[in-house]
Amino acid sequence: MMRSKNSNKHYFTKMGSRKKVHAFVRVRPTDDFAHEMIKYRDDNKTIDIHLKKDSRRGVVNNQQTDWSFKLDRVLHDASQDLVYETVAKDVVSQALNGFNGTIMCYGQTGAGKTYTMTGATENYKHRGILPRALQQVFKMIEERPTHAITVRVSYLEIYNESLFDLLSTLPYVGPSVTPMTIVENPQGVFIKGLSVHLTSQEEDAFSLLFEGETNRIIASHTMNKNSSRSHCIFTIYVEARSRTLSDEKYVTSKINLVDLAGSERLGKSRSEGRVLKEATYINKSLSFLEQAIIALGDQKRDHIPFRQCKLTHALKDSLGGNCNMVLVTNIYGEAAQLEETLSSLRFASRMKLVTTEPTVNEKYDAERMVRNLEKELALLKQELAIHDSLANRTLVNYDPMDEIQIAEINSQVRRYLEGTLEEIDIINLRQIQEVFNQFRVVLSQQEQEVESTLRRKYTLIDKNDYAAISAVQKAGLVDADGHLVGEPDGQGFGLGVAPFSTKPGKKSKSKKMFKEQLSSSARKEGASSPLSGKDLDVSTSKTQLTPSSKDGDVKDMVVRDRETSNTEPLASDSPKEELRPPRPSTPPAKPVAFEDFKNERGSEINRIFKENKSILNERRKRASETTQRINAIKREIDMTKEALNLQKSLREKQGEYENKGLMIIDEEEFLLILKLKDLKKQYRTEYQDLRDLRAEIQYCQHLVDQCRHRLLTEFDIWYNESFFVPEDLQMAVKPGGSIRPGMMPLSKIVSLGEDDQDRFSQLQQTTLPEGPDSVSFYNAKVKMEQKHNYLKTMMGLQQAHRK
Ligand code: ADP
Ligand code: MG
Repeated sequence: MMRSKNSNKHYFTKMGSRKKVHAFVRVRPTDDFAHEMIKYRDDNKTIDIHLKKDSRRGVVNNQQTDWSFKLDRVLHDASQDLVYETVAKDVVSQALNGFNGTIMCYGQTGAGKTYTMTGATENYKHRGILPRALQQVFKMIEERPTHAITVRVSYLEIYNESLFDLLSTLPYVGPSVTPMTIVENPQGVFIKGLSVHLTSQEEDAFSLLFEGETNRIIASHTMNKNSSRSHCIFTIYVEARSRTLSDEKYVTSKINLVDLAGSERLGKSRSEGRVLKEATYINKSLSFLEQAIIALGDQKRDHIPFRQCKLTHALKDSLGGNCNMVLVTNIYGEAAQLEETLSSLRFASRMKLVTTEPTVNEKYDAERMVRNLEKELALLKQELAIHDSLANRTLVNYDPMDEIQIAEINSQVRRYLEGTLEEIDIINLRQIQEVFNQFRVVLSQQEQEVESTLRRKYTLIDKNDYAAISAVQKAGLVDADGHLVGEPDGQGFGLGVAPFSTKPGKKSKSKKMFKEQLSSSARKEGASSPLSGKDLDVSTSKTQLTPSSKDGDVKDMVVRDRETSNTEPLASDSPKEELRPPRPSTPPAKPVAFEDFKNERGSEINRIFKENKSILNERRKRASETTQRINAIKREIDMTKEALNLQKSLREKQGEYENKGLMIIDEEEFLLILKLKDLKKQYRTEYQDLRDLRAEIQYCQHLVDQCRHRLLTEFDIWYNESFFVPEDLQMAVKPGGSIRPGMMPLSKIVSLGEDDQDRFSQLQQTTLPEGPDSVSFYNAKVKMEQKHNYLKTMMGLQQAHRK
């Protein structure tokens, strides 16, 4: 008859699909068992009730006399052990996997609810589901060292629609000032004000259980409560986190162990006064429970009346829903209690219709998640770095851009728009986005500039502002069509439209002004100016007046340099005297300063530069002339060859003269042959000259490049020294001897250079995987390298100066 213990295993293993609530019947043992009326079938699940006909009801008697209830199991003469195995074990074990569980005992007073739930507190063997559940939880924790599992408990009593904390007597809790309330939030339902106790071991949990049981009994005496009329809910809260730190998921669950009030009906207790009030309440809350159960069992119902009483409200997320649910119906086996037994069994079969959908309560640890994402990000960056190096791309920085990088992109975009930059290299997505962003910035700035230029020049009137327009018309400034008075038709312009000449062309106005300034200073330099356009392209015989970008004057480079720097826009009338002592508050624009530099400290280098440049130009000119000559000779050779061929064919037509094997040719042909010979000789000589010249040009070009570089470097140093390096810093460095502050890049003096920082962060990225211990090692290494580089640069500069 008995089913094997393991046969219950399948009850709670299903996940994510609906399953029925399990309803069990436990029959209280009695010597007076009504064998006639109560019959168990062999399936161990079905219980048949037979009622003798009531003869008092007369001849026509439609009274039903037989019922059959099929439940999940009938527990008759079952030990506490078996009851736990059958009813609770799986619910509890599933709770540690994150499933909520509810076990409820229902039945009339004295039928054995408390015995089933709590058991005999004085007899260990007869302990009920509650202490056994706690034992199982702690045993499972021990078996799961991979998880950090915390256990908390609370014990709630609902009596006369009031909530009582059965653990409020504990010294560290204290009586609550405000009454407890039931609160709902997305995580579920909880009782505000109910004390919840962390228990790290079985023993503590038992103490809490006993404390609650004692309070239950005491309260029934001191407060004159009828303990059979209260509902008690003992809750075990479980939270399981993996000890693997990378696991950000964790599960929570709660096991509600509910000992309901007696289900006996009001009529039977013959209560009066206060007792009647209690009985009414009990019945009410149990009938609300029944209503909720009926609603839960009806698939078509979407509203479940949970909030009608405290019991159903408190159990809202533990009835049906996502939890594993079990009902134990406790019944008497005696004839006298048959009516109550019937009613209890009806409740049980209703409960069986309810389905639940157990799901794991999975939560995410935000802190762990952030940490894991950070790790992931670092890993992906490394992955990118490897990818880049495989694709032969130099180290690309994928971090968000700082102000300096954004300013650089802004400058690139401006140069691109002005045409001084051919194209903008694509580096990465972030950079592309920033390029677009800066296009927008530049565009809106230009729009503002145009508008403000117009405003300076003209009074702009809103075309929709008719009052203003008519006022202007009245004043006779514009005619009715908006044309300026006196403006020839067709050439005028509408209100608010700039005349063509002021419209910004491809080049911005400031740039234009700047170029004008430059050409005037170029004129000052005289004919020897390298900008004179005398460079000749040797490779072709065409004479082109194109100063190729490679030979572009140093000025061009300064112009480009100026555009990348953040110096103030050029003030066209800034007086020269202000440039050197006293130091101006804002440094002069680089092109202006450059002219001063060439007259001052840079005069010697500039002289050599110009000299080299003129030698180069002279050689180029000669090369060009030689090329032209060569081409002329080549043409003449071709012509002579043609003439000779003509002679030859003529001779062949007229018939050839031969004298002793020698061909006889006329004088004309002979002279042509001589000329060809001479031309070929000339060609070879000139060609040799050209080759020599080309070698010389190459060498001179190299010298010019070197000089240009020197000139610019020296200029930068001079510029920094004159306008940027703090004077006190200059003083501090000067006594050191030949080291001039300007010789050092500003960043080296003032702070750790940008490049160094970049390299340092790159180093950090690549070395950190070796462990944090490596950081200090690499820190020291970077510092060493910085020092080494600095000394090397200094020595190089000093040597250059001694020359
Ligand atoms: P309820 O809580 O339903 O009012 P109790 O659990 O208090 O009923 O049971 C009433 C009495 O019956 C108690 O003395 C209890 O020890 C006893 N009792 C109930 N069920 C059993 C059982 N299965 N075996 C032994 N004694 C039981
Ligand atoms: Mg009881």
